[in-house]
Amino acid sequence: MKNFKITSFVTISLFLLLVILDTTVGIALWWYIVLLILWFTIMALGSFNMSWGFYLKAFTSNPTITQKKIAITFDDGPNPEFTLKVLDILKQYNAKATFFCIGENVERYPEIFKAIVAQGHAIGNHSFSHELMIDFNSTENWLDEIKQTENAIHKITSKKTTLFRPPFGVTTPKLAQALAVTEHQVIGWSIRSFDTVIKNPERIIKHITKQLKPGAVILLHDKQSNVLPVLEHLLQVLQKQDYQAVTINELLNEN
Ligand SMILES: [Zn+2]
Repeated sequence: MKNFKITSFVTISLFLLLVILDTTVGIALWWYIVLLILWFTIMALGSFNMSWGFYLKAFTSNPTITQKKIAITFDDGPNPEFTLKVLDILKQYNAKATFFCIGENVERYPEIFKAIVAQGHAIGNHSFSHELMIDFNSTENWLDEIKQTENAIHKITSKKTTLFRPPFGVTTPKLAQALAVTEHQVIGWSIRSFDTVIKNPERIIKHITKQLKPGAVILLHDKQSNVLPVLEHLLQVLQKQDYQAVTINELLNEN
C-alpha cells in the first residue's frame, strides 16, 4: 500500500507541475499523455507483482530462514482427477503442502477437500468462482467471494483459514479493502513454475530447481496431468538436497 500511495502522490505532484508549466510557459499535450501512460504502466505492474507490496502486504517467501525448508503450494483444486494422487505422492515423501482451493470446487468435491485436511496439509482461500474477470470486482463482490469460500470450508471441516491467495496473482485496491475486513494473510510465491503454460515436466522442474533456496514458496496447480511427474521429481530433488517441504504456516513462523 505504501508504494501505491507514493506513486499516486508523485503522479499528482507531476500533474500539478504540468498544469503550472502549461499555464505559465505553455507545454505540449503529449506531456500529459506520457504521464498518464507512465502512471497506468506502474499501476498495472504493481497489480501483477505481489512482491512489490503495491496494494497490500503479501508473504512471498521467508528470506530470514536458515533451515532448508520450503513450501509447495497448489492452486485451483480440489480436482477429481489429480488431487488425491498428489496427496499420495506427498505422503510417500513425508512432505507437507498448502492447497489454495476454489470455493466452488470445495463444494463440488467435499470428500477430496476433507482428505487434504485429514492428511495434515494447510488450506487457503483462493476465491469462490475464480472467474476470468474477477479482478474487476468491487469490494462487496470480493467480500462475497472470500466469505462464500470460508463458509464452504467451515461447513465441510468446521475449520477456518487465515490464508488467501489472489486468483491469477493479481491484487487491486478493491481486493485490498476486502482483505482488510476479512483479515486474511495474503500469500504469493517466490518460484512460479509456469506449469499451466509449460507442458513438459522436465522443463518445469529445471525452471523450479534452479531457483531453489531456503524459505522459497513454489507455485503449482493440482488441476492438470503434469503436476504428478513434476511433483514426484521435485520431491526427489528436495530429498537429495536435504530440503524439507513444509506448510506455509510453518514457513511463516520460522526465523
Ligand atoms: Zn488460480
